Amino acid sequence: METCPKCGSLLRTSDSYYSTENDDTPNLETIVYVNIKMVCPNTACEDYAGNDLTNPRIVVDTVKNRVN
Ligand SMILES: [Zn+2]
Repeated sequence: METCPKCGSLLRTSDSYYSTENDDTPNLETIVYVNIKMVCPNTACEDYAGNDLTNPRIVVDTVKNRVN
């Protein structure tokens, strides 16, 4: 698990989105990633995500995982 670099709280998952690599290069395999936004749930923290975790004030980190 990842922790907030400012306060040490465990980060929560927020929104996620997909991205691709090589999708404009026909002779290379297209790689698909899911990017998960990680946010801080600590209300006392400078990087607190706010009440709406799906629309955070600050994204602390983005975790990128290959899908295919
Ligand atoms: Zn924090």
